[in-house]
Amino acid sequence: MEWEAVIGLEIHAQLATTTKIFSGASTAFGAEANTQACAVDLALPGTLPVFNTKALEMAVMFGTAIDAEINKTSVFDRKNYFYPDSPKGYQTSQLFYPIVGTGSLEIELSDGNSKLIGVTRAHLEEDAGKSLHEKFPSMTGIDLNRAGTPLLEIVSDPDMSSAEEAVAYAKKIHSIVTSIGICDGNMAEGSFRVDCNVSVRHKGEQKLGNRTETKNINSFRFIEKAIKGEIIRQIEILEDGGSIPQETRLYDAEKDQTRTMRSKEEANDYRYFPCPDLLPIVIEDDYIDAIRSKLPELPDAKRQRFSEQYNLAAKDAAVISGNRAQADYFEIVATSTKDAKLAANWLLGEMAKTLNQNDLQIDQSPVDAQALAALLLRIKDNSISVNAARQVFEAMWNGEGSADQIISDKGLKQVTDTGAIEKIVREVIANSDKQVQQYIAAEPDKRGKMLGYFMGQIMKASKGKANPGQVQGLLKPILDSLCN
Ligand code: ADP
Ligand code: MG
Repeated sequence: MEWEAVIGLEIHAQLATTTKIFSGASTAFGAEANTQACAVDLALPGTLPVFNTKALEMAVMFGTAIDAEINKTSVFDRKNYFYPDSPKGYQTSQLFYPIVGTGSLEIELSDGNSKLIGVTRAHLEEDAGKSLHEKFPSMTGIDLNRAGTPLLEIVSDPDMSSAEEAVAYAKKIHSIVTSIGICDGNMAEGSFRVDCNVSVRHKGEQKLGNRTETKNINSFRFIEKAIKGEIIRQIEILEDGGSIPQETRLYDAEKDQTRTMRSKEEANDYRYFPCPDLLPIVIEDDYIDAIRSKLPELPDAKRQRFSEQYNLAAKDAAVISGNRAQADYFEIVATSTKDAKLAANWLLGEMAKTLNQNDLQIDQSPVDAQALAALLLRIKDNSISVNAARQVFEAMWNGEGSADQIISDKGLKQVTDTGAIEKIVREVIANSDKQVQQYIAAEPDKRGKMLGYFMGQIMKASKGKANPGQVQGLLKPILDSLCN
């Protein structure tokens, strides 16, 4: 019997506001523990929340970006539960009337097909603090800095049927929220966290199977692994005649396994009710239209423009346009060098590799777009070879200066003086008696293949600095003149 997986994602995107959703405390990441939670975030008696309209604007930006319904009246509810990292005893969220209603977006798959995935809703809520388990042996530390940070929770319909589709959807949402600038998208810092709901059913079956929810996954690779593993686990249980209890699970990246966190039967009754401290949010069409008209270019449009304007391969255009910082970087390099292909090659090659090795994002690169462009221009004007350019790039990365400075410091400038190159070519030929005799003895149409040896020797003799095009232009005529 064939099985089919059903997947729905709940994505928490931290909104890039400078202050919290209901207070003026800073949302900056990485501050000393418990220095950025104010009386409102701690819900001290007598304090009242004041809604940060920047968070509203960002939620509406998202809704308009995916062409979803925007609810002109939305309401904050209290979700009551006790947990040490939530000092209020409830989370302010939106259950009954979320700010963003139904919408959809298209994902592209590796087989070239695309698929429409429904977005059920997206609502505003506040984040909780963090429990720190590593810091204190046998105790748990609580850092409340994150309490009250605005989140947009984006809930999908159960429309995905493989790990690949789920990852493509999560990446699409990630590229949208970062493109429109409402989330920094930093998954390692927890700015973008994904809950994966997974169930399986027999192919053709309409009814949904019981699902599990694996919480707070913060990398695309883990989403893929967690979902794949969960599908297999559920199928095995069902094939053995068992059943899947509805439960919340945790993904353990080290063991590459999910495990039970709590079962739905033990789940809290959250006693949701409208927050008496916050008025309903009422917005007008004008407000929504103004936001829609100011939306920056969205990833799909950018991808399309990149393939047309810069003539990029479809795959390159998709990768580069998927990340706004990378897209902006690319455009600067492509425009300054007037060579989009070279810019894309370096961005997806040397730059991507080095960023990866150092676990950095493009906007943290020590080589900025102008600096890379300056280097690529030296390849284009034949000042340096591609190999030398790699050396220069490494030195630039290590802060040794600008491309031109490094080229001159390291003496990497290519020799383009024809006289100097010809001298080297003649020297190598004079020292390669055996190979020259073989060249002369060979059939004329076999001689082309024998040039490689001479090229190699000449490049070596010039310490890689002879311009290869010029060497080629000189070498064959000189050798051929020896054959007569
Ligand atoms: P809750 O609020 O209790 O987490 P929801 O019904 O709002 O539950 O669903 C949360 C997420 O789970 C949504 O993304 C939805 O698409 C997904 N989902 C619901 N039922 C299933 C199922 N049987 N299999 C897979 N995903 C599901
Ligand atoms: Mg849920």
